[in-house]
Order: sequence, then C-alpha cells, then structure tokens
Amino acid sequence: MAPGAERCMYCGDNQGTDIDHHEPMARDPLRTFDWLNHLLACSHCNSHHKRDRFPVDEHGRPLLIDPSVEDPFDHLLLSLSVGEYRALTEKGVQSIEVFGLNRPILARGRQQTFDVVVMCLRQWPDAVSGKACTGRTSWYTSSGSSPAPTSVRPCCGKWSCPARR
Ligand SMILES: [Zn+2]
Repeated sequence: MAPGAERCMYCGDNQGTDIDHHEPMARDPLRTFDWLNHLLACSHCNSHHKRDRFPVDEHGRPLLIDPSVEDPFDHLLLSLSVGEYRALTEKGVQSIEVFGLNRPILARGRQQTFDVVVMCLRQWPDAVSGKACTGRTSWYTSSGSSPAPTSVRPCCGKWSCPARR
C-alpha cells in the first residue's frame, strides 16, 4: 500500500487517478473537504472495490487501514511466494476484502516481481565479480524449482556479451 509517487494508496499497483474520500461523504459529510480524508486511489479500487464501504467495529472505530497515518504492515503480511496479503488483524481482514488487495492480477504481479528479484539476487555475485556464468538467465519460480539450462556458455555478465543472446 502507498509504495510510490502517483500510485494508488490502496493497491499500490495502478496510477492514482481518483481522489477517494477514505471516510465516505455519506457517512460524515463534514469530512467532504477534509484534506486528510482525501486519498489518491486508482479508479478500480475507488469505483469497483471500496466505493462507499467503510466498516467499523462495535465502538464505531474504522476497520480500514488508512495508509496516510498507519503502517499497513502492522495489519498485513505479504506472502511473497503467492503474492497475496495475509491479515494480521481484523483491520487487515477488512482492508483486504474492501480494497480487493488479493485480486488475481495484483497477486500475479507481486509474485512475478518476487521471482525477478530472486533471480537477480542469485546472479548478483557473478555479475559483480566478473566470473564466468552459465550465459543463461535462469528463472527461479517461487516454488524454488528452476528449469534445466538449455545451453552452457561463458558469459561475462555484461549486456554486450554475445553469450547473453
Ligand atoms: Zn488501486
């Protein structure tokens, strides 16, 4: 949640194109122009998931994470191998459901990013040392399996190396 400039503060994946009233205007009209109630969201999160939903507990306290004042990771755990959030609190449960944080396209994107980071970290020592490598980019899946290399060629790790092609 809220990972970078102009990103949706809920899903973190899409460009923030909408201003969401975190606490809906229908619930508290006095917060309509409250600057701190305006969060940048993508149209998918704003219009298809959250809409005017704003669950509260039995005392009327919000059960949605406000990423502008709370650390989402107090309530959520990201399972990197599957790219899905797991709830640590009731606020996490409600936020995953209301914001649609585990919709398949988001989970696949997180999982693929994880796979690329793992691949880069595994190749990092050879890349910085200049040692010969297999000349092949290996994709390690989140299950830890790796496809068998189709060829083994010396490679210096530079983009211009013919063995990389
Ligand atoms: Zn979004």
